[in-house]
Amino acid sequence: MDSKYEAVIGLECHCQLLTSSKLFCSCSTGFGEPANMNTCPVCLGLPGALPVLNKAAVAMAVKAGLGLNCIINRESQWSRKNYFYPDLPKGYQISQYDRPLAEHGSIEILVNGEHKKIGVQRIHMEEDAGKSLHEGFPDSGKNTYLDYNRSGVPLVEIVTKPDLRSSEEAYDYLTRLKEILEYLDVCDGNMEEGSLRCDANVSIRLKGAEKFGTRTELKNINSFRFVRKAIDYELNRQAEVLESGGRIVQETRLWNSDEERTVSMRSKEEAHDYRYFPDPDLPLLVLDSDWLEDVRKSMIELPAARRTRFVTAYAMSDYDAGVLTMTRALAEFFDETARLSGYPKAAANWIMGDLLRFFKDSNVDLKDLSQSRVTPKMLADMILLVDQGTISGKIAKTVMEEMYATGKAPGVIVEEKGLVQISNTGELEKIVDTVITQHADAVAQYRSGKQGSMGFLVGQVMKATQGRANPQTVNELLRNRLAG
Ligand SMILES: [Zn+2]
Repeated sequence: MDSKYEAVIGLECHCQLLTSSKLFCSCSTGFGEPANMNTCPVCLGLPGALPVLNKAAVAMAVKAGLGLNCIINRESQWSRKNYFYPDLPKGYQISQYDRPLAEHGSIEILVNGEHKKIGVQRIHMEEDAGKSLHEGFPDSGKNTYLDYNRSGVPLVEIVTKPDLRSSEEAYDYLTRLKEILEYLDVCDGNMEEGSLRCDANVSIRLKGAEKFGTRTELKNINSFRFVRKAIDYELNRQAEVLESGGRIVQETRLWNSDEERTVSMRSKEEAHDYRYFPDPDLPLLVLDSDWLEDVRKSMIELPAARRTRFVTAYAMSDYDAGVLTMTRALAEFFDETARLSGYPKAAANWIMGDLLRFFKDSNVDLKDLSQSRVTPKMLADMILLVDQGTISGKIAKTVMEEMYATGKAPGVIVEEKGLVQISNTGELEKIVDTVITQHADAVAQYRSGKQGSMGFLVGQVMKATQGRANPQTVNELLRNRLAG
């Protein structure tokens, strides 16, 4: 896109809440079950069936609202969004329209070293539609099949203000959003399975212009990878249209990931096309103040707050704080290790160095570290063994590997393998003397001023003790001996 233009992007994300039952009935929300098994008269939209609100879904939506710094509206309203589509058996979707659950929030993003706040205009709750299956059947060429398992599954739609100015900003926003929802345990953020779906409103304008250009809505962006690509493609397309004297048509465009381009689908609906009106089957959603307070109290420390704390309290770099807060489980693992050992710096180094590599090699899911053989207690104990001089830093590496392989406590490993550091000076002196005798060349070189030979001699002593000698003591002993 020509640099005279500026991108204006807003995102609308549908996030599936992690409840076990649907929004207005007790059917299961389980993914991947046989088609149409998780259905009942309510979510099939049969005549006379009435919706009953799922309280757990409201609690999760409120948590999402609080996590995105929104004002939670004590009263919000269910509205019917009317449209005809075979996957929508009632002919309308129960959603929220002019009175949403939460408003006026924000998410902080970090792009090219710059922090920026992206406004969250609103969060509203709604039920999901069913799914049309156009493939996979012998007669798929002429028939479409329908699966209503997803019909009535609770969603929140999170709408940003048009504050994003590049595809990188949109990508970082989505990453932060996913992270917050995962920390709060309200959405698993899985774009491939459709539990996080994202539409992008994209327009361009001349830099410095106040008026927004005509926007298009991009749909079907079903992976994080494609967010950047789809937006960049669309920005370039719009710039080319304007450059060639054309004008942008307001429309919905589908991202085609095979051809890596957006394709016109239909002219964009306006809100009035949906003929919204309050759902007569459902009363106002009124939040009890004590209940709301309980939800507020149940909030945990969010990733951004954790990063700030790690940077300020532990003098950690932004990068390290970012790595250690990748998932809630990892952040909690670090916090616990730091607390138990009293050495946050060592805890951070061991986790970011060895432990993350082990996790990667054995495909441990960083969202669930209950599978990890090494616990915060074990790692903290090992850090203390080094601190107390029981084992050397070098031996600690061996202990770490052994802990990960066997799940044994570090104290047990040190004892079983005889890894205790040799700090008995008499014992070390003997080894030092042997090394001096065996390496007369290096000794002569050192004495003639070649300081580098000291490193070689220390290395030989470490080798002779299988790394169990305290390098500092070895250094001192060698210097004393060679000075004499
Ligand atoms: Zn149902």
